[in-house]
Amino acid sequence: MSEAAIEIRDLVKEYAGSGDEPPKMALKGVSFDVPEGSVFGLLGPNGAGKSTLINIMAGLVNKTGGQVKIWGHDIDSDHRNAKLNIGIVPQEIVFDPFFTPFEVLENQGGFYGISKALRRSEELLKAVRLEDKRNAYARTLSGGMKRRLLIAKAMVHSPPILVLDEPTAGVDVELRKQLWELVNELNAEGVTVVLTTHYLEEAEELCEQIAIINHGELIANKPTRELVGMMGEKIVAVTVDDDFTDLPADPRFRKCERAGERVIEITFDKSEMTAGQVLAKVQQQGFVIDDVSTREADLEDVFVQLTSQDDALA
Ligand code: ADP
Ligand code: MG
Repeated sequence: MSEAAIEIRDLVKEYAGSGDEPPKMALKGVSFDVPEGSVFGLLGPNGAGKSTLINIMAGLVNKTGGQVKIWGHDIDSDHRNAKLNIGIVPQEIVFDPFFTPFEVLENQGGFYGISKALRRSEELLKAVRLEDKRNAYARTLSGGMKRRLLIAKAMVHSPPILVLDEPTAGVDVELRKQLWELVNELNAEGVTVVLTTHYLEEAEELCEQIAIINHGELIANKPTRELVGMMGEKIVAVTVDDDFTDLPADPRFRKCERAGERVIEITFDKSEMTAGQVLAKVQQQGFVIDDVSTREADLEDVFVQLTSQDDALA
């Protein structure tokens, strides 16, 4: 077993209510470790408690109970060292619009007391591919550039742990790929990366280990391979050219059902066959295919599966 970069024990957060709002239990006793050197995914739907957890690590939200250790340093008793060992990219992008990327990084270096000679502003701008925007006003940067600048800003003090809260929420496919690349590069250099996401596909692509949180509770914490094995089903919806009475059949179909006047939905296991093989089977049985769509098991499917299988609980 490798060392834990982050240890979270029995973490509880209750937000006080205000006005008509009742108090809210955002974290109900969450415990897990983030292994050193990993890319770790914290996955859960909106409102699950992901940002609350991240913001507690960042020192932006006070916890109600439990312990958090960052790189072995308790965030209460050794706040300074805990903070020095983590870099956080918050979910909301906030910048002073009148600073340039270079100035943003220099200011942050100053904030951490790093002498001018030891600052890494140029190197970091290059790493996030913003060297040609070095002197542009931050307000003129695109959303994706701002996000990358925030990552550079979080790395100014060279922390061994980088935390990204929903780095790709609302970004286009191209930019998402770029951010994934950046995460992989940093991890290859030895940085432990924690990211939150509500995209299953993203966690699956990037993370070695995935913790799933829902309604403030940890419902799973497993190596990605195991988790994906549990939800390896894929669904193909086939629209055929004419109404039908008999459904196509194959021993490898997990499920095959009518989903509309001319629509057949076939569920299969990705490890047993491909969508192409499914379609070939359907055609062999005399169906003429007009249209096709496929869908992966999504977060909802995973929740259903996890909560219906006791042994799957973390
Ligand atoms: P996520 O990041 O997974 O979407 P959050 O941690 O932002 O979830 O929110 C978890 C729950 O806590 C939600 O029900 C949210 O409404 C509530 N919450 C978050 N921040 C506050 C706050 N400052 N005051 C009161 N309730 C909050
Ligand atoms: Mg959030």
